[in-house]
Amino acid sequence: MARLVFLHETPFEYLGVLVLSGYLKEKGHDIEVFVASEEGKHFWDKVREYKPDWVGFSSIASIHHECYRLAKAAKKELDGIGTIFGGPYVSYYPDCIKREEVDVIIRGEGEEALLDFLNAHDEGEDYSSIPNLWTKKNGAVISNPVRPLESNLDKYPVPDRDIYYKYNYLRKTQFKYFMTGRDCPYNCYFCFNQEFRKLYGLKSYPMRRHSADRVMDELHLCKEKYPLQKVCFNDDIFPINKAWLNEFLPRYKKEIGIPYSCNIHTNMVNDDVAQLLGQSGCDHVMLGLEAGNPRVRREILGKKFSNEQFYKAADTLHKYGVRIKTYNMMGCPTETLDEALETMELNSRAKVEYPWCGLFHPLPGTRSEQIAREKGLIKESFTLEDSKGSVFLESHLDQPDIKKIQRAHKVFYFGARNHRLIPLIRKLVQFRLGYVYNIIFLMTYLIRYMRETGNSFFNTFLMGIKNIKNF
Ligand code: SF4
Repeated sequence: MARLVFLHETPFEYLGVLVLSGYLKEKGHDIEVFVASEEGKHFWDKVREYKPDWVGFSSIASIHHECYRLAKAAKKELDGIGTIFGGPYVSYYPDCIKREEVDVIIRGEGEEALLDFLNAHDEGEDYSSIPNLWTKKNGAVISNPVRPLESNLDKYPVPDRDIYYKYNYLRKTQFKYFMTGRDCPYNCYFCFNQEFRKLYGLKSYPMRRHSADRVMDELHLCKEKYPLQKVCFNDDIFPINKAWLNEFLPRYKKEIGIPYSCNIHTNMVNDDVAQLLGQSGCDHVMLGLEAGNPRVRREILGKKFSNEQFYKAADTLHKYGVRIKTYNMMGCPTETLDEALETMELNSRAKVEYPWCGLFHPLPGTRSEQIAREKGLIKESFTLEDSKGSVFLESHLDQPDIKKIQRAHKVFYFGARNHRLIPLIRKLVQFRLGYVYNIIFLMTYLIRYMRETGNSFFNTFLMGIKNIKNF
């Protein structure tokens, strides 16, 4: 059977790889992962010893350069081996197939396409007409449409965590990710979600979910086999189906009983939902606030709720003992420094416990990116290839105040935890302090991460060192 190895540089367990590995192994294929930071100088020896038929990459927009680097190196180290790319990045940016180091891409959900591809490999058959798959022949790109979305998620077995947990660092992480379903009903202007839906020609998503039994099986297995002190349900929006929650959460509380976190939308928070979450052991929820200024949030980012709604949601969650992590962006198209500072203020006044912040990076094709283009804030030729990856370093926009906003982003945590510091921050960002800002950002990022995940200082420090390339 075909041997496929996934490679990446930094230690992070990609849920997509776990799911693919579980499914493809069940179908008899041989799947492996090697992480460069964990293997050290023996990395390529290990990959060679495994004798892969293909090298795979699960690519998102922030790590695509890392994937390209590894794919180039793999071709050199493994005698021109074939490379196959999946993940949101290639769904979104299929032009990457034109690159020399990319041989095959799989757009959309990859389980069935990758299975067909590996089966074709085993049979020595032509794979160029497999739905979802793009490849090249004699220099010409061959593209195939996507197949319909799989409606029965329980078809896929429990994700194969063993594939990553041979690495101590990943196995010992107390905070582990789970997905109970796929799809999101919202239409934020900056998000990949709208493009993914277009790819499938859908006006709305079917909102697919695993059965409660299947999710419980996965949780039990993980709890029995590995250290697990916090569960993160990483579905785009977790409390989407009240009947499902009413079945699942009481069982979760009784049988698993580990504090958990989940994504929720501000518009969904009410007493019923907050109480259900609080009573079932929800430690904190993740809310996409994105921008504190109502104009930026609504018109540029497509987040349709007011400041008052956000305050009310925060109060309701706190009333039931549920803490809050927010996702925020600074440097949004047309955003001024004062508007960016409002994001700190809203977080602080709503008493958000774990405020996270990146810089706005335009995803080509999204409405937010179109706005940036129309206003002349990004160069016409901009593509995802130009994106430098990390959303923590610098903005791609050319607009007034952007340098000051970049500096404000580095000290975001202070203002978001205490709005009384904002006047001081407004003065501070007038000064160029070079790497001092980056060091402050890294320290505050780790403090927030440690508080949010409950990881020890040592593990958090280790996480920072191992992932330094991603900052
Ligand atoms: S709620 Fe989250 S996943 Fe859904 S469209 Fe908005 S940003 Fe994307």
